[in-house]
Amino acid sequence: MPATKFSAGFQVSENVAQMKASSTLAAMQAAEAMRASGVDVVDLGAGEPDFDTPQNIKDAAATAMRAGKTKYTPTAGTRDLQQAIIQMYRTDFGAMYERNEVMATSGGKQAIFNAVVSLINPGDEVLIPKPYWVSFPEIVTFARGKSVFIETDENHFVLTADMVRRAITPKTKLIILNSPSNPSGRVIPPAEFKEIMEVLAEKDLYAVSDECYLRFVYPPATVFSAASLRPELRKRLCIAGSFSKTYAMTGWRIGYALANADWTREMLKVQGHSTSNASSISQAAATEALNGSQDSVAAMLAEYTRRREWLLRELNEVPGLSCAQPEGAFYVFPDVRGCLQGRISTSEQFAAELLEREQTVVTDGAAFGAEGFIRISYATSMDRLQEGVTRIRRVAERSDF
Ligand code: GLU
Repeated sequence: MPATKFSAGFQVSENVAQMKASSTLAAMQAAEAMRASGVDVVDLGAGEPDFDTPQNIKDAAATAMRAGKTKYTPTAGTRDLQQAIIQMYRTDFGAMYERNEVMATSGGKQAIFNAVVSLINPGDEVLIPKPYWVSFPEIVTFARGKSVFIETDENHFVLTADMVRRAITPKTKLIILNSPSNPSGRVIPPAEFKEIMEVLAEKDLYAVSDECYLRFVYPPATVFSAASLRPELRKRLCIAGSFSKTYAMTGWRIGYALANADWTREMLKVQGHSTSNASSISQAAATEALNGSQDSVAAMLAEYTRRREWLLRELNEVPGLSCAQPEGAFYVFPDVRGCLQGRISTSEQFAAELLEREQTVVTDGAAFGAEGFIRISYATSMDRLQEGVTRIRRVAERSDF
């Protein structure tokens, strides 16, 4: 493979050169730049709660700072946080994890990163169901693995055990699961999830389960964690968790990984030589998030429920646009192919048109492996959503492209 050379003769690593920058972060930064220049932007791009971090969590962080908890912590995190995570999984999912199977990370993304780079050898195949969160294939590329995508549109973007079985080759080592899904909001039914894990067990493969949207599901879907599966299935699983969405803590950069002791030990080596440990202040805040009142989570879920219902109804009335009902997370993922005409022939161009003409940020589905779709986040106020739908309708209804 030829080395990538820049004008100053600077040669970067091939696998990093092949990585694409994060489109979700790019969408957020585009919105931020427009806001900074005084534009009335409607930002439906960010997968970031518009709620503030609950007060009890902020207070716990302030108390920790005042008490001098401003030093390194063990790489795996403070005992208090490890214990709070273990307790939550025991109480809510009946899963018995030991301390050597739990680590705090700087956001859920670092948990996924640790899990993938500690498992994958060059050329190993990693199954990634489409549509996928933008960082999954890029992390696999970093690890010199090969992403093998699974098409799921035949089942409206819900992965099945059969699809997994068909995608496995002798080189497969890992699958990355994400339910509720970012970007589609679709949920893998628990019985199907179990069957997927059984297929993996049969073939001696591993799974990373990104459970970042664990708490945000809408009836009849119910909260489900892969941790509740029986231990023989669970032992080939790394759960990546996050405080970012559940507790509106995106800026605190705090998450966790749960995996068998051997996998965790290897992940700790990766983290020990990269970030050392998650922020001590954020760990104190996260401990309170788990141990304190969960009322704020229920309040956020109630508000997301209200917005979701409104948004689905409105979007399905926009000509050319069709939107399946997501069971979880805070995204809708409408099909915009019926709106494409003239020079607007891709979802990327549709998203660009929205940005340029209507100062409205959405994320192009192609970034998630689903050309023809756009991702709309409803982690934004009802006011902004209403304005956003008005603007989307204007672009969808235009015929002079
Ligand atoms: N996960 C969020 C999103 O998909 C935040 C951005 C990111 O980390 O990719 O928009």
